[in-house]
Amino acid sequence: MARKIVVTSGKGGVGKTSVCANLGYSLAALGAKVLMLDIDIGLNNLDVVLGVENKIVYDIIDVLDGKCRPKQALIQDFFQSNLYVLPSNHTYYTDFQPNRIIEVINSLENEFDYILLDCPAGIENGFYRAIKCATEAIIVTTPHLSALRDGDKVISILNAYNITDIQLIVNRARGDLMIDGEMLNVETIKEYLNVDILGVIPEDDEISKQLLTGGQLSRLSNAFNSFALIANKLHNGQDEIYDVTKKYKGLFGSVKRNLKKIL
Ligand code: ADP
Ligand code: MG
Repeated sequence: MARKIVVTSGKGGVGKTSVCANLGYSLAALGAKVLMLDIDIGLNNLDVVLGVENKIVYDIIDVLDGKCRPKQALIQDFFQSNLYVLPSNHTYYTDFQPNRIIEVINSLENEFDYILLDCPAGIENGFYRAIKCATEAIIVTTPHLSALRDGDKVISILNAYNITDIQLIVNRARGDLMIDGEMLNVETIKEYLNVDILGVIPEDDEISKQLLTGGQLSRLSNAFNSFALIANKLHNGQDEIYDVTKKYKGLFGSVKRNLKKIL
């Protein structure tokens, strides 16, 4: 039976969709069968990040309206054959029974190892719809106080909904700034939110480029490596976390930090 994990944050723009897509790729690369689902109906972009928007025949609204079976709407990734997406709909549509979406997800849970639910920003209807479908949560935050405050609110709501299996991903981390005390470091973020760290993702242009190109990150990128470690932790229980500060430590590291400030 699938682990149903909601990827949420409260704050918009912190990287939920990017995390969902790239974690999906990395889990699939480990051999897990993964379904990704955009609960941000109307404002979704998971299909764009994955580069599958031209392959959509049916979407989640067709499924909810009974125009097709859930399996008919699934799109298989071109490169990772065990990665699937149930696409959302680009028109704003909220006129359906929230429990229908839970039924659809439950009807697919025996087919997959993971169902990753990309949650909308905010704590309105779409957010509650997403968390009701999940049994675990990944909170995505950036190292900024505004994101942490929203993350904290979301954690208390998740607890109230009996989702206690909550892990944290710190996105857009800059090792150079963390070492110099100009950005909240991972330890401080962990203490603030009081949840286990699943992983740390560096600020990486490869992720922003993904919105233009769609598809997988370059294997040579730092972000790719950080997602591979996160997938390994989630799937195999390995505990290595990507260290964004590593290359900025020591004498050469301090030279790199100072060069970054000048350039
Ligand atoms: P959300 O789903 O939380 O609204 P997105 O995943 O859409 O956030 O990310 C918002 C923007 O930030 C996108 O343009 C994305 O490419 C960019 N982004 C996310 N994470 C990173 C990162 N680690 N490095 C660089 N850009 C990032
Ligand atoms: Mg999003």
